Amino acid sequence: MEKLWDAVVVGAGPAGASCAVWLRHLGFKPLLIEASDRIGGLAARNPFDDIWTVTSPHQTGVQVAQHMAEQVQASGIEVWFESCLQALDGQKPVFELSVARAGAAPVIVRAKRVVLATGVKPRGLAGFEDQSLPGVIVGPGDAIMALAFAGKRVAILGGGDNAFENYEFAKSRGASDVKIFARTVRAQKQFVSRVLAADLHIGSTQVDPVARTVNGQTYDYLLVFYGWQANLDFAATPALAIDERGFVATDAACAQTSLPGVFAIGELAQRMHPCVPTAMADGVVAAKAIERDLSAQSV
Ligand SMILES: Cc1cc2nc3c(=O)[nH]c(=O)nc-3n(C[C@H](O)[C@H](O)[C@H](O)COP(=O)(O)OP(=O)(O)OC[C@H]3O[C@@H](n4cnc5c(N)ncnc54)[C@H](O)[C@@H]3O)c2cc1C
Repeated sequence: MEKLWDAVVVGAGPAGASCAVWLRHLGFKPLLIEASDRIGGLAARNPFDDIWTVTSPHQTGVQVAQHMAEQVQASGIEVWFESCLQALDGQKPVFELSVARAGAAPVIVRAKRVVLATGVKPRGLAGFEDQSLPGVIVGPGDAIMALAFAGKRVAILGGGDNAFENYEFAKSRGASDVKIFARTVRAQKQFVSRVLAADLHIGSTQVDPVARTVNGQTYDYLLVFYGWQANLDFAATPALAIDERGFVATDAACAQTSLPGVFAIGELAQRMHPCVPTAMADGVVAAKAIERDLSAQSV
């Protein structure tokens, strides 16, 4: 018979790592599974200073993620990297998770409780979601840091903070021409005020990502910031209710989903402003709910 874990936490971003650490120190044996090869989720892909996390002055997101990895290791938590939840089955008291592991056959993992912390992924261009096109970068983070901007023409698609922050970044790296194309502007005022009026186009836009043209003009790079969507590739899971925004519906008091014994935290559930501190706090909420739940029952 396969081992029965107290809890399996799926996703080792700030939410999942925090939940696993709390569960461990509350006296449980969690298994943490992570699709990538590192702990930290989106924070591990943020090369910029994290000025928002009060415990981590003068640290980039990458460094904040390294601290999470150290704490997970110091807590003695078993972590399976390159391991991806594919499907979730069962109900209280035992759940079965089908997990694909790099270079190995999928395995079934058994757990008393499940915590989903798989976060979000950037929205791509409609019709090209699964394609990787040369010169087209979807979402913010380290892929943009790696681009050579000097002398390049850059079109930025989107009207949120990421679009405006990366306008400044591309210019600071020597791009010859940077334009923002936004249907509407949602970014904070201080970002918007720093963009030249001639560089901001508000309204409908014709984009050809293969030819890399926007409204008939050719660009070297298209940077796409069309927001985020929940990482729900395993959502064939029966009875897992999704809210009207596309995130996993949860009880705000305990992070439990519509499936009793299954919890969803961090950006996947998005009950709070998405950032590292709220994701970590959400991990605590689920860990304490699981402690109450497991203490109240025999399993
Ligand atoms: C460029 C950038 C800069 C940012 N800067 C800051 C900042 O300075 N300060 C701040 O507080 N916040 C910042 N944020 C936001 C912050 O990083 C996120 O809010 C936070 O990481 C969300 O945590 P999470 O654990 O919910 O999800 P994520 O960080 O997205 O982690 C989810 C994890 O789940 C894994 N996963 C997904 N699907 C599966 C699956 N099926 N099986 C197993 N694992 C899976 C993913 O690989 C990932 O590691 C930034 C975000 C970006 C993109």
